[in-house]
Amino acid sequence: MSGNITFTMIKPKAVENGHIGNILAKVIEGGFTIKAMKYLRLTKEQAMEFYAVHKERPFYNDLTEFMSSGPIVAAVIEKENAVEDYRKLIGATNPADAVEGTIRKLYATSIEANAVHGSDSDENAQIEAGFFFSKLEVF
Ligand code: ATP
Ligand code: MG
Repeated sequence: MSGNITFTMIKPKAVENGHIGNILAKVIEGGFTIKAMKYLRLTKEQAMEFYAVHKERPFYNDLTEFMSSGPIVAAVIEKENAVEDYRKLIGATNPADAVEGTIRKLYATSIEANAVHGSDSDENAQIEAGFFFSKLEVF
């Protein structure tokens, strides 16, 4: 399975703006299949734990406040070369720099509220999937 999965979240602002369906459609059209999915709201502490790699960054507090501000969709998705291909499909971190047609270009409203998360390595994909899902919840 390693190498073929990545982890994604649809962030609170994109959920609030009604983009869950459109984003999932892009994911599926992009050739990914859904292996696990849930709709939930993170606590501030859970968001801080998830984003602990960024704890020294100036945006850490705002980011974790934002990520715990409303419900998100968390999912494990599968495709050959999943991590790299998904980061191509979502586009640059800052939507202003994202390529036309990417999920962030279409649905992000700012660098913080950039519509979706995508894992940055196979190792982190496994760690992040394990943060949200037990073995029994991944198909
Ligand atoms: P993600 O990890 O969410 O897929 P990414 O890998 O493109 O995004 P990271 O560098 O891991 O970007 O940053 C994590 C998140 O922190 C970004 O998605 C964004 O929401 C937020 N972020 C990154 N840089 C900034 C910044 N300069 N100002 C505000 N928020 C930022
Ligand atoms: Mg990242």
